[in-house]
Amino acid sequence: MQSVSHQRKTMSALTLVALLGWPVAAIAQTAGTQEIVLERVSYANETEAQQAWRPSDRTAPVRLVHENGRVALEVALPFASQPDWPRSVHDRQVSLDLSGPGEFLLEVSVEPVEAVGYLSLYFRSGEGWYAASGSVTRPGRQVLRFRKSDFRIEEHPRGWEHIDGIRISFWRGRNVDGRARIYRLVAVRHAIAILGPAAAIYGRDPEYRVARETFQRFARLLDDLGLAYDEWDDASPNAQVWAEQKVILVPYHPRLSPEATKALALAIRQGTRVFLNYQAPAELLGLLGVGKARWVGQQFPGQFAEVRFDRQILPDLPETMRQSSWNIIEAEPATADAHVIGWWYTASGEATGKPAMILSPRGAFFSHILLEGDTENQRSMLAAVLIAMAPELRSQIIRGLLARAVRVGHLTTLDELGEWLKTYLPDHAHPAWQSFAEAEQIFQAVREGESEGKAPPINLRELQQLRRKLVEAYLSAQPSPHVEGRAYWNHSGLGAYPGDWERTAKELSEAGFNMVLPNMLWAGLAHYASDILPRSEAFQKYGDQIEQCVAACHRHGLEVHVWKVNFNLTNAPRSFIDQMRAAGRTQMTRRGEPSNWLCPSHPDNQRLEVDTMLEVVRKYPVDGIHFDYIRYPGPDNCFCPGCRQRFEKEMGVKVSQWPEDCVSGPLRSQYLEWRRRNITRVVEAVSREARQIRPGIEISAAVFPDYPSCRDSVGQDWVSWVQAG
Ligand SMILES: [Zn+2]
Repeated sequence: MQSVSHQRKTMSALTLVALLGWPVAAIAQTAGTQEIVLERVSYANETEAQQAWRPSDRTAPVRLVHENGRVALEVALPFASQPDWPRSVHDRQVSLDLSGPGEFLLEVSVEPVEAVGYLSLYFRSGEGWYAASGSVTRPGRQVLRFRKSDFRIEEHPRGWEHIDGIRISFWRGRNVDGRARIYRLVAVRHAIAILGPAAAIYGRDPEYRVARETFQRFARLLDDLGLAYDEWDDASPNAQVWAEQKVILVPYHPRLSPEATKALALAIRQGTRVFLNYQAPAELLGLLGVGKARWVGQQFPGQFAEVRFDRQILPDLPETMRQSSWNIIEAEPATADAHVIGWWYTASGEATGKPAMILSPRGAFFSHILLEGDTENQRSMLAAVLIAMAPELRSQIIRGLLARAVRVGHLTTLDELGEWLKTYLPDHAHPAWQSFAEAEQIFQAVREGESEGKAPPINLRELQQLRRKLVEAYLSAQPSPHVEGRAYWNHSGLGAYPGDWERTAKELSEAGFNMVLPNMLWAGLAHYASDILPRSEAFQKYGDQIEQCVAACHRHGLEVHVWKVNFNLTNAPRSFIDQMRAAGRTQMTRRGEPSNWLCPSHPDNQRLEVDTMLEVVRKYPVDGIHFDYIRYPGPDNCFCPGCRQRFEKEMGVKVSQWPEDCVSGPLRSQYLEWRRRNITRVVEAVSREARQIRPGIEISAAVFPDYPSCRDSVGQDWVSWVQAG
């Protein structure tokens, strides 16, 4: 059931058409769509209606009711009066071939809505059923859409061509009495069908998944173009139905059955346009005018990297379509009316001389499958090929492309964007209004070109231009609060050009940044003139990096928030690490392995962390300081002898089994709490003292996103830091 998304789609199409002033009737259906009315509720009287729709399972007979000039079948739903009654059942006998339609529309209403959990539409075929379900989501009349691919099989149906019954059931929702009304049931057959391998036959085939994905890719492109379509598989090909189809797309079928091949061949002979991709029986390729098909693997990676199209032959085509194919089915035009419309090019832009796409009056052939990637050009390619195969789809496709082009951000139409601009930019001198006006002009031009029936080629550049203007208008109208930080996190502490913070700051400022977070110190290393930490090679080579950074950034209006990697000794000099380890200040895992991290419970380490960050605040006019690695490395740390001693002393406990009692034993939660406290103490001391040194300084931290589990895993209770201010 896809009623929700389909209704949304219909809504946007309607909005657009209302906007364009095109007749609504024209979009009610795709060109070439056929509707078969299965139930229109046109009975002479109630008795006749009751004879047509037979109730069972304790269901009351239908009633014929009039509602604002429309006639409906009413179904009583006594869910409160009959607490054990699960659903209503009404059956009608029919004799229908429904193998053509790809979609069914059921117009209903339910009062009250909550009486019904969902409704089911069944088609009976011999000893089995096709069944699909949908939900009534709001009061009043509404159309539910059921795609054929939504129907599940119950028992053993004979096939869609032998439908002998229709059943409609409303299933219990809440325990309230209600009623449902049925207004119409229509089968819809679209001009376009996508054909893929049947899951029942090919589900275990290793290529099935790829075929399915490619099928879905085509389906999404059609959705983008605003085109409805039928979804087919080749479980039981119906040659007659296939031959009545306007367009059949075969995105990828690794092994079409002989029956399906025969049905497609008949369809092509009778005028159906077929778009074959990659592997296809030679017979079908021949009918399209494609010959000498043979598999060709790439000779080097990037040999088949791009398709360049011939817009002389088909002006609607995009210039190019990128996709990295590793093999192709090389083929040539075999009839005078078949032409190569696209050629393969290598990644370095050289012609391979191998055709990528061939078009004839009977269809098209693409030499590989459409891969994930260049969606925009794929969409344009498909639009052009569809228009070539079925020109009557043209205006609908252009409407689809236009509708897509005007969808910007959260807004779906030009009108919506105009309203939004009015709200946020009452000043019409703002450049966003200029962009919007230009977009409107392009839109009008495309629309007029269409409505005058001139059918000019789809001007893709114009559509792209339209889109670019609208995006410009949308983005430049975004409110820009002055507190917004657009920050650059610099890990080297040297900027983008070592030794030249001036250039980095200038370029960042020109690019719209207003904040820099340079990593100037680690647990055992400083890129500035530290009196506490070892000075780095970068400091020796380029001089005091904080000093240079702050001076340059402030010249260019950028804030500087100096970033420290806490506790982590990764790039500290060996001598410093050895010195810390000798003093018992480094961490140990629970198995007693040494870690190159300072132990957060050691008072000298806490003081070192605090003093180094305060040194930065004291010596330089920084706008903020930024903690990173302000935590333990993981749940295995720290279990050094010092931790045991300090834990016992501070918590007033005695650990009998070290470290088991603290890892998973009775003291675990106390130990975790104590671990958190060691980290929080550093954060708390730095932020308190830094604010004494420079009131208004900003304090930030890079933290784990998986709160609250990071409280236990790494001792990082950052929500409590925020709450404490
Ligand atoms: Zn420790």
